[in-house]
Amino acid sequence: MAEIILKTEEEIELIRESALIVSKTLGILASEIKPGISTLRLDTIAETHIRDLGAEPGFLGLYEFPNTLCMSPNAQVVHGIPNNEPLKEGDIISIDCGAIKNGFYGDHAYTFAVGEIDPKIEKLLKVTKASLFEGIKNFKKGNRVGDIGYAIQNYCEKEGFGVVRELVGHGLGKTMHEGPEIPNYGRRGRGKKLLDGMVLAIEPMINLGTRKINQLDDGWTILTADGKASAHFEHNVALINGKPELLSTFDYIYKALGLSNSEERPFRKEYLAL
Ligand code: MG
Ligand code: MG
Repeated sequence: MAEIILKTEEEIELIRESALIVSKTLGILASEIKPGISTLRLDTIAETHIRDLGAEPGFLGLYEFPNTLCMSPNAQVVHGIPNNEPLKEGDIISIDCGAIKNGFYGDHAYTFAVGEIDPKIEKLLKVTKASLFEGIKNFKKGNRVGDIGYAIQNYCEKEGFGVVRELVGHGLGKTMHEGPEIPNYGRRGRGKKLLDGMVLAIEPMINLGTRKINQLDDGWTILTADGKASAHFEHNVALINGKPELLSTFDYIYKALGLSNSEERPFRKEYLAL
């Protein structure tokens, strides 16, 4: 089990810088995603942008992962490898992106719709994203790790969705995966205490059908056992003065998609008007 490392204010600012580089990169990708573009092309765009911002891709070479982005379309949950196959109308694509600058990582994710999607899948995306904020709300003084997982699990299971058990959120800092592990399920009041200076990657991975998953022979790609869609949203959050504060933002994505962003307001030091 990886160590829990509490961060100083200065270290939190460095993680914020890396997290915002990821946020901006996902914003660039949001305006490029359309039927016909391949995930490998999007990967190249992301790598170029991350390097232009003075950072390095966080996933490239990590545990020998071959690319900048984890690209997981449709029934893929996470850790999909970019390829030349074009995205098509009605697909969804989960993009997980990491960057490292000044020795600290940022790591967050968003599931995008490619054109018009099935209303059932649209609901999966909406619920998964809302569950992320339910989890963030519970990252506060007096709570424990199980309170975060409980909030996410409860929110998603009441909609009938499957909550993946095998993959979890994590602490974040000079290494991509620090303690504590943050499962997307749990029991209230159980697990490690949440402490000021913790920086977490909270990341619900939620399936339209069964929570069961399989792994492809490539040694990376995780996909749903029933072939139904899966969604993944991830934010980086610090616990400061007993309250959760977002270090990453979906602002750049929303700006690209012409959406407004109110859900992040309670968790921001100040609202970064764009
Ligand atoms: Mg991630
Ligand atoms: Mg993560």
